[in-house]
Amino acid sequence: STPLRLGIAGLGTVGAGVIKIVRKQASLLQHRCGREITISAVSARSRDKDRGVNISAYAWEDDPVALATRDDVDVFVELMGGSDGPAKAATEAALAAGKHVVTANKAMLATHGQLLAGLAEQTGCALRYEAAVAGGIPVVKSLGEGLAGNEITRVMGVMNGSCNYILTRMESAGLTYEEVFDEANALGFLEADPELDVGGIDAAHKLAILSALAFGTRVDFDGVEIEGIGRVKIEDIRHAADMGYRIKLLGVAQMTGRGLEQRMAPCLVPALSPIGQLEGGTNMVVIEGSDVGQIVLRGAGAGEGPTASAVMGDVCDIARGLRLPVFGQPAETLATAPRTQSATP
Ligand code: NDP
Repeated sequence: STPLRLGIAGLGTVGAGVIKIVRKQASLLQHRCGREITISAVSARSRDKDRGVNISAYAWEDDPVALATRDDVDVFVELMGGSDGPAKAATEAALAAGKHVVTANKAMLATHGQLLAGLAEQTGCALRYEAAVAGGIPVVKSLGEGLAGNEITRVMGVMNGSCNYILTRMESAGLTYEEVFDEANALGFLEADPELDVGGIDAAHKLAILSALAFGTRVDFDGVEIEGIGRVKIEDIRHAADMGYRIKLLGVAQMTGRGLEQRMAPCLVPALSPIGQLEGGTNMVVIEGSDVGQIVLRGAGAGEGPTASAVMGDVCDIARGLRLPVFGQPAETLATAPRTQSATP
């Protein structure tokens, strides 16, 4: 059998993690996928940076679009980030050239998911993005495959580990939001633009993607009501605790009689509930289905290993020949759901 050849654009935290797994797990991957997984070429901004992995065996491209369309690349692995710019350009170029795509880029999918899904399905390519939502937790696979026989009634969860870290640290150390924010920033826990994390935007990107999968609707990021954690006070946390609650940045998506409700905001959750017991940088997604009941998925939502693990799961599916509609059903059949203002939680 022929090897499946990857072209990887973006050699940061996630890209380096993917290279490590491809090397470390070569024989396991070959057995599981029935063919070898190899890397043909890589791309990033700077060629000379020390990345903790040796990339000298791979061809180098300065231009991610050139990488995505190389003849010796079967799967374009997009790990640069950013909703537009080179990530979108190279993803479009890859799909147009008949290459499969694996990405961890929630910003791009939340903004251009419909366009990219249409393009992938037109050219018969896979477009997979497990790593984009809740890092290592296989939530996209669960919704799109394992739960495909269910009508999904609600999806909710804590999907930004940095916010959960800040809130739990304020609680345990009795520090203010500003103090913990500075601490988290110094430790490198926040995105280059921290507002993406603390403003709830990153988590809202993920919620919008899950909504599309859960409810058969077009990704509607603009329809997510978003409130970040910047206004949470230490007193709020104390009062909540007195009543047996904790404050979590909670995303909720549900289909109501009035339309699709998507909300990302700090919420009171019972301290003894699964979400109420979530500590530190962990993520949790709760799915409610007509026949399965409630499922709770919990694990690392970010980091090199967990995120690369999700990317490799997608690569394996492609190696095995699995071709699924991008958002659980053909892109042209996704409905435009009316938006609704949510009731108070
Ligand atoms: P990093 O910032 O660590 O790495 C980004 C990489 O992309 C770098 O290697 C950088 O090059 C390269 N890059 C950036 N811009 C360009 C460009 N214009 N042209 C070519 N290369 C470029 O990001 P992460 O690895 O953390 O994240 C990658 C993706 O994965 C993002 O979409 C992110 O949202 C997503 N993700 C990340 C998670 C995590 O835990 N880190 C979790 C889940 C998803 P150079 O190194 O030369 O600067």
